Formats: sequence, C-alpha cells, structure tokens
Amino acid sequence: MNQYPAITGEVFDTRNSVLQRINPPCLDCPAGILIKRDDLIHPIVSGNKWRKLEYNIRNARQNGVSQLVTFGGAYSNHMVATACAGAALGIKTTAFVRGDELHAADNHYLYTASLFDMELIPVDREAYRNKTGLFESRFGDKKNVLCVPEGGANQSGAEGVKRIISELNSAPDFIVHASATATTAIGLAQGLEAAGPEFRKTKIIAVAVLKNASEQETKIREAGVSHRVIVDAAFDFGGYAKTNSELMDFCRDFIRQTGILIDPVYTAKALYAIKNRYAKQSESLMFLHTGGTLGIFSDRFRKD
Ligand SMILES: *Cc1c(COP(=O)(O)O)cnc(C)c1O
Repeated sequence: MNQYPAITGEVFDTRNSVLQRINPPCLDCPAGILIKRDDLIHPIVSGNKWRKLEYNIRNARQNGVSQLVTFGGAYSNHMVATACAGAALGIKTTAFVRGDELHAADNHYLYTASLFDMELIPVDREAYRNKTGLFESRFGDKKNVLCVPEGGANQSGAEGVKRIISELNSAPDFIVHASATATTAIGLAQGLEAAGPEFRKTKIIAVAVLKNASEQETKIREAGVSHRVIVDAAFDFGGYAKTNSELMDFCRDFIRQTGILIDPVYTAKALYAIKNRYAKQSESLMFLHTGGTLGIFSDRFRKD
C-alpha cells in the first residue's frame, strides 16, 4: 500500500502500536472503544510525533543530512521527540524555542531535550514568528542541515501518519483523535483514500484542541480530503493547554481506570469528546492515542 517500508527492528518500532478494546466507566460507552496505542511506539518519541518524524528523518538520512533544526514552545512534544530521535540515530539536533528567558532546567520538556543533547536557542515571541528568518540567519549557509517545521507539519509528516491506516485489519466507522495543525487528520484521510473499499465509509473526527478549527478546515480542504474529515470545535476548553476541573477529573479517572496515561492538552480533550458526543457511535469507533504523555507531568497540572 505504501511505497516505503516501515522503519522496524530499529529504535522506533510502530509494531508496538497495538489495538486494544477498553471500557472504563468514565467514558460512558456501552461497548467501550478501540484504542490504537501509538503512545507505545516509544516512551519519549511517542505517538504522532514519531509518525511525523519518520519520513522527515528517512529523507534526512538518504540525503546525508547531519543536523535537524526545528521549532517549538517550551512544552513541545515535537521538540523532545526530535531530540530523542536525533540522539538515537546519530543526528545533531537544534531547536529554536519560543521564550527568550528559557533555560534547560525550567521544565521537564526542556530538561529532557537537553539530556538528549539538543541545542536549545531561546528566542523572543516576536522573533519566533519569523521562522524562515531564524533558520536562514543561523543555518542559511550551512550544508547538510534539514529544517523541520514546528510540530512536524509537512507532507513527509502526513506520509508517516498515512501508514497507521495500513496497520488496521478492519475498518471502523470513525477514527477520533486530538488535532492541532491538522497534519495527523490529513495523513489519516490520505491513508483512507489509499486503502481498500472496506474503508470507503470511514471518517476522521479531528477534535480541535485549540481555537483554530477554521484554519484546520482550510488546510484539510486544500489537501483535498474534506469529505473524510469532521473538525469538531466544541472541545477546545477555551484554548491551547486550557483546562477546567471537569477535564482534569476526567483525565485522572481515565488513567486510573485503564492504566493508560493521557494528557489534558491533547488526548484527554478528544476522549472527553467521545464521552460527551460520540458514545452512541462507540461500537465502531477507534480512538488514536497520539502520545504526548509527558504533558500530564507538568507542574501546573500536578497542582490543579
Ligand atoms: C502534536 C500533537 C497532536 C496534534 O497533532 P497535529 O498533527 O498537529 O494535528 C495531537 N496529540 C498529541 C499528543 C500531540 O503531541
């Protein structure tokens, strides 16, 4: 189905992403749901961040690239994933980090990235907006450096996500996941388009975790897959990384009832949407666990 084989038998093995049926009381789904465990691909390079890096790194290796340069906020799953993948595969990594006063000791994301020897370049919010300018100013004249967009949001990223569909033995009616840049949604939809006739009816429900649903819809339309994707804007909880006590309680209940870590920034919002809007469809619904489990360890959620 795909022109490239998986990177298997190496550090990051997508065969670890098993499909399970779970039925925790907190979900209120009569038959439980299927969950695709992309969080098990690797403890740090988990979920869709490995999917989105896979082909970026494959291209880098084929082209003799010795350094990856990327961008992220101080709590970026993509940043730590890139740092760890680089350390594992012998590629130097650098990240421009949003926030000019930041240090590696400031939080567990920056600390983890620095453990993997990522070079962190803090930049103020203004400078961070011009990513091309930042890259050009430091790396424009360097050879063998690959610039990976924030969040791994490019077509190589979607290409890696596409493969998730080829790992499924049967077609659910709905695949639900947490969505921010829509790269995962587009990759899944492209995977469905390339799959067999049994996937003809399958739809993606992309639960927007921030207030950018219309931007996500535009990207999905531009990718030509809007007939496959529903962007659900009702569960952003006020914006990126915003939560309330109901979401935090739900998050903790889910973790103690399943033994599966989720986080309040991404996966908890999508699961909460399943509980509150898609429970009736739960019999033929698959939740894609997109990883990001470091999120639950953030100070502010510990105190909430
Ligand atoms: C980055 C991330 C997402 C969003 O993925 P997009 O491809 O940007 O939509 C969802 N879940 C987790 C855990 C993430 O880290």
